[in-house]
Amino acid sequence: QAKDSGRNRYRFFATSMNEQLNRQRAIAGALRQSLEGDDFHLVFQPQIDFNDYHIQACEALLRWQPNDTSLQAMPSEFIPIAERSDLMIRLGQWVIRSACRQLSKWRAQGLPHIRIDLNISGKQLHQSSFFNFLNEVLDEYGLQASDFGIELTEDVLTGADSNLLAQLTHMRDAGMKIAVDDFGSGYSSLNFLKHFSVDTLKIDRALIAKAPESAKEQAILEAIVQLGHKLNLQIVAEGIETELQAVFCKQLGCDQAQGFLYHKPMPAPQLAQLLTS
Ligand code: C2E
Ligand code: MG
Ligand code: MG
Ligand code: MG
Repeated sequence: QAKDSGRNRYRFFATSMNEQLNRQRAIAGALRQSLEGDDFHLVFQPQIDFNDYHIQACEALLRWQPNDTSLQAMPSEFIPIAERSDLMIRLGQWVIRSACRQLSKWRAQGLPHIRIDLNISGKQLHQSSFFNFLNEVLDEYGLQASDFGIELTEDVLTGADSNLLAQLTHMRDAGMKIAVDDFGSGYSSLNFLKHFSVDTLKIDRALIAKAPESAKEQAILEAIVQLGHKLNLQIVAEGIETELQAVFCKQLGCDQAQGFLYHKPMPAPQLAQLLTS
């Protein structure tokens, strides 16, 4: 009996593993096709200042509508799949180009200037031509490094060699903001800051969600804010959903906030409307 159910469990596990692999393979194929077509778009989520609640910047987030709707996926599913091949490079280039096109369009429409923050994956950043490509597209659209911010995760920064850090420093000197994304979800040692400076820590949503009810998470959050401020960093609280979380993060000294409580990610025309209203 026990052996039987064990075997069934194994079979169930193997089947779902198989299904998962099939889905991943199908998504990779569909992403490749979509890069030829027009199945991606960007949405934008505003970041607000905790002092006066004005919109400081917006984060560009990738959305995908494949022809085969059964493959419909969010970035948390399809980005890691793209990361395992050359797809991420091309997808990342699509994102940079689209964000530049959007920003130049907003400028032409006379919209108030707003910074766009881009998520850059490790694979993208470690590609030797990354900065050349970025600067080329900026030039093409008549934009500056200071029009953009990039969000990198801690492991990407920890794994960066001196050459990469020098290139990042160069972009930062040119005015590009650099944020550490999902801070507080990994080791969060800030050790990399000995060799390289960033502008912002974006505190992970999971930590923000737990902090109001958990003394432990509260202590960690408090320590991050204090240490960050001592290092002259801006602190963004990510994924704020409730008034309680907002009050809490503001009290602890977070500088900016991003979350569904304020704004959900929205299509470009909606953000334009928000910025002019
Ligand atoms: P992230 O960079 O940490 O982005 C924040 C994610 O949290 C977004 O999910 C956003 O929609 C979601 N979010 C914001 N506020 C709230 C909130 O109040 N509650 C909840 N529950 N969620 C909130 P999204 O768009 O699904 O993206 C997930 C992740 O995928 C991003 O996390 C980022 O790591 C990655 N990603 C998205 N777009 C890109 C891209 O263009 N390039 C790369 N390399 N990665 C991307
Ligand atoms: Mg991000
Ligand atoms: Mg994040
Ligand atoms: Mg993330």
